Amino acid sequence: MKVLVVNSGSSSIKYQLFDMTDESVLAKGLVERIGISDSIINHYPSDREPVITHQDIPNHRVGIKLMMDALLHSEYGVIKDVSEISAVGHRVVHAGEKFSGSVLLTDEVMDALKECIELAPLHNPPNILGIEVCKELMPGIPQVGVFDTAFHQTIPECAYLYGIPYKFYKKYKVRRYGFHGTSHKYVAQRAAEILEKPLEELKIITCHLGNGSSITAVKNGISIDTSLGFGTVAGIIMGTRCGDFDPAIIPFLMDKEKLTVEEINKIIYKESGFLGLSEGISSDKRDLRERANQGDERAIRTISAFTYGIKKYIGAYAAAMGGVDAIVFTAGIGENSKETRAEACEGLEFLGVKIDPEKNKVSAKEAIISNDDSKVKIMVIPTNEELMIAKDTAEISANL
Ligand code: AMP
Repeated sequence: MKVLVVNSGSSSIKYQLFDMTDESVLAKGLVERIGISDSIINHYPSDREPVITHQDIPNHRVGIKLMMDALLHSEYGVIKDVSEISAVGHRVVHAGEKFSGSVLLTDEVMDALKECIELAPLHNPPNILGIEVCKELMPGIPQVGVFDTAFHQTIPECAYLYGIPYKFYKKYKVRRYGFHGTSHKYVAQRAAEILEKPLEELKIITCHLGNGSSITAVKNGISIDTSLGFGTVAGIIMGTRCGDFDPAIIPFLMDKEKLTVEEINKIIYKESGFLGLSEGISSDKRDLRERANQGDERAIRTISAFTYGIKKYIGAYAAAMGGVDAIVFTAGIGENSKETRAEACEGLEFLGVKIDPEKNKVSAKEAIISNDDSKVKIMVIPTNEELMIAKDTAEISANL
């Protein structure tokens, strides 16, 4: 069974074709700069050299058509006919409160996703567009939606409600949703497999630390709290997003700087986090580390605020779950930065968290990095959202 995974963003489309018999990747690729000049198709067949093509790609329809052409190409394609694709899995950012798991994308589901556009105005429209074009170009092939928010629909009311008038929840569904759900679910499942324990018996804190970051408390296999919330700015500080801060700052700054809603939004989403706190050094963690190593105070304070935030969430979620069996680090920073992992775990010995500096030298591969006598297992697990999407898609389409 072959499953195609599509992640359709505002100006790019990422894809991976899996052979689900052994979960291997037959080809993957990235269609970039859609609707902008100098569009590119990067196609990587697993058993051949990459093929990079420059071509005008005015819209998503053309982008997805070119993705299909690459997959079917006589020289560098990996399938001979579209019918070899058993199902297509789509990453969709926001499903509101409507879905707590992956589903077949029927017309009713598409209508429900369109209703969620106001909750994710930047992300859901290109996701929906990608689905519509795939439905059109691959008629009869089941299309499945896998939602970033779905894994967090198990979060209890006490953790998803904000302390603002309840009428805003009733009127506009203002609440904590959480994101990166597919990644948190994948690494929690892998942690249980590696530890050879049932997921249903474990308390795991999953730290997805990338350009966007979130931390989740996974108790007995379900998400019970997560650091991102209504939008994608809360929690720990990120590349350009602010993380938790006092909401009173928003009207204060709007008044002082005479800011519009768009301008304050730009500040909290695009000009804050690593970039803002470091006074413009970079939104990229590697650059900050390099500057911190040279003694740059701006980089040092930014990294300290970042790792302090991770530590605080680990403590909070250990309390929320009544203990913790494993802490998992994933995504760009979590998988690669031994310094971040060490700093985040420092001082948590009282919780039974003891990192092994030698084992912690690992980068981008699965490993247990805690001391043998650490009560809490500390783990590095590279995330694989595409495989998770492919697995859900295969399962749903097999049951049709
Ligand atoms: P992601 O959004 O998951 O691609 O992660 C991007 C973040 O991971 C950026 O802040 C990068 O600086 C960081 N990152 C990637 N590779 C490394 C590395 N080898 N060491 C430290 N940080 C890294």
